[in-house]
Amino acid sequence: MTILVINSGSSSIKLALFAEPLLQRQLDIRIDNIGTLNAELRLKNNTYSISAADHNQALVLIFDRLANYCSDSGHSLTDITAVGHRVVHGGEQLVDPTVINDDIENTIESVNHLAPLHNSVSLEAIRAARKLLQHCPHVAIFDTGFHASLPAHAKYYALSEALTSSNNHLHRFGFHGISHQYVSQAVAKSLDIPIEKLRIISCHLGNGCSMAAVENGRSVETSMGMTPMEGLVMGTRAGDLDPGLILQLLRDKKHSIDEVDTLLNHSSGLLGLTGSSDMREIEQRAANGDKRCLQAIQIFTHRARKYIGAYAAAMGGVDAIAFTGGIGENSALIRQHIAQRFDFLGAALNEDLNNDAIVTTKSAIAEISNASSVVKLFVIAADEEVAIADSVNQKLKANESEGLKKVKIHVLRTWI
Ligand code: ADP
Repeated sequence: MTILVINSGSSSIKLALFAEPLLQRQLDIRIDNIGTLNAELRLKNNTYSISAADHNQALVLIFDRLANYCSDSGHSLTDITAVGHRVVHGGEQLVDPTVINDDIENTIESVNHLAPLHNSVSLEAIRAARKLLQHCPHVAIFDTGFHASLPAHAKYYALSEALTSSNNHLHRFGFHGISHQYVSQAVAKSLDIPIEKLRIISCHLGNGCSMAAVENGRSVETSMGMTPMEGLVMGTRAGDLDPGLILQLLRDKKHSIDEVDTLLNHSSGLLGLTGSSDMREIEQRAANGDKRCLQAIQIFTHRARKYIGAYAAAMGGVDAIAFTGGIGENSALIRQHIAQRFDFLGAALNEDLNNDAIVTTKSAIAEISNASSVVKLFVIAADEEVAIADSVNQKLKANESEGLKKVKIHVLRTWI
C-alpha cells in the first residue's frame, strides 16, 4: 500500500508519500506562503520561488511534481492506494477517520464557517485530489477528532440551555488533534511508559498555536474552542479575548462583521502586536531592542505559561510537557521563557539541552529537562503527515476486516 497524505493549511500545502509495510516516507513536497509574492516550493532540500496566488494554483503545481516523481521512479499515480486528507473541522457529525464521498464533502462544507481559514482549503484539495486520483479511496482525518473525548466540564461554555439546545454546535471542539495525539504517543514511547499512565501537556506552537492536556491518552482540556480562535496568542489570531471587546467593536459601527472577522483572524496576534507574524524576525528585532517585539514575546509566553499551570491543575499534576510546531521545535528562547521557574511543578529545564535541541522527522524527539527533573520536558518534530498515514492505514484495514467479517457472517447464515 502507498499512502498519499495531503495536509492543507491556511497558507501552505504539505504532501507526503508513505510506503508499506512500515509507512516509510518516500517523498515530501511543501508549498508555503500561498497567496503572497514569496510563495515557494520545497522538494528534496531545494527551494524554488513559484507563483501561487491561491490554493488551486498551488495544487496544480504540487500534483505536477508528484506525477514527475512517480514517473521518474518507475511508478504511476495509479500505484497510490489511498489518500489521507487533514480536515480541520468535522463539526458535530464527523469525528473518526471517514472515507470521503460527495455527502461527506457536503458535510465538511456545511461547517466551513466554523474554521474559515482552513476547511475551505482542505475541500479544494479534496476535490482536486478526488478528480486526479479516482481509482482509490480518500479518507478524511479530523483535527477535532482527538478532542471528542473532552469531558463535559471542559467541552461546554457557560451558556443558557435555551441557546445551546437550539444551536448544538455552540461548544468547544478543540483543534490540532492529529498533532496532539502524535506528540502524546511519542512522549509515551520515549519514556517507555504506557500512555494510559501519563499526564501530558502538548504545546503546538506554530502559526496556529494550541495546547492540550492529555490524561491517560485522552484529551481532557484544550485551548482552542468552537473555532480555532480561542486560547493562545498565534501568528495572526489574538487567542483569548473578552467577548465584550468584540461587542464594543460591533457597537461602534466603525467595522462591519466581515472586517471584525478579518481583524481577529488575519491581523491580530503576533502580526498585530509587531507587524510580523514570523517569530524568527520578532526574536531578531527583540534582540536589537525593539520594544514591541520584546513585549510580544512576553505576551506570547505568559499566555502559554498560564495555560500550562491551568492544565497541570486540571489533571492534578503533570508527567511531561512537550513542545512542537515551527516555534515549539525551533525556538530555544520561547521554550526558555515558557518553562522558566517551573520548579514548583517539578519541571527543571536544562539550558544546554534546550539550546542544542534539534529535531527532524527522522530524529523526532529531544529531551530538554535535567536528569533530576520529575516532570520531563521534550521537543518533538511535528509530523501530522505520518499520523494521518497511520490513521488511513488503520481505517482501511478495519474496513477490510469488517468486510471480511460480513462475508463470513453471510456465508455462515447461508450455510445455517
Ligand atoms: P503552520 O502552523 O503554518 O504549520 P509552522 O508550524 O511552520 O506553521 O510554524 C511557523 C512559525 O514557526 C513562524 O512563526 C516561524 O517564524 C516560526 N519558526 C520557524 N523556525 C523558527 C526558528 N528557528 N526560531 C523561531 N521561530 C521559528
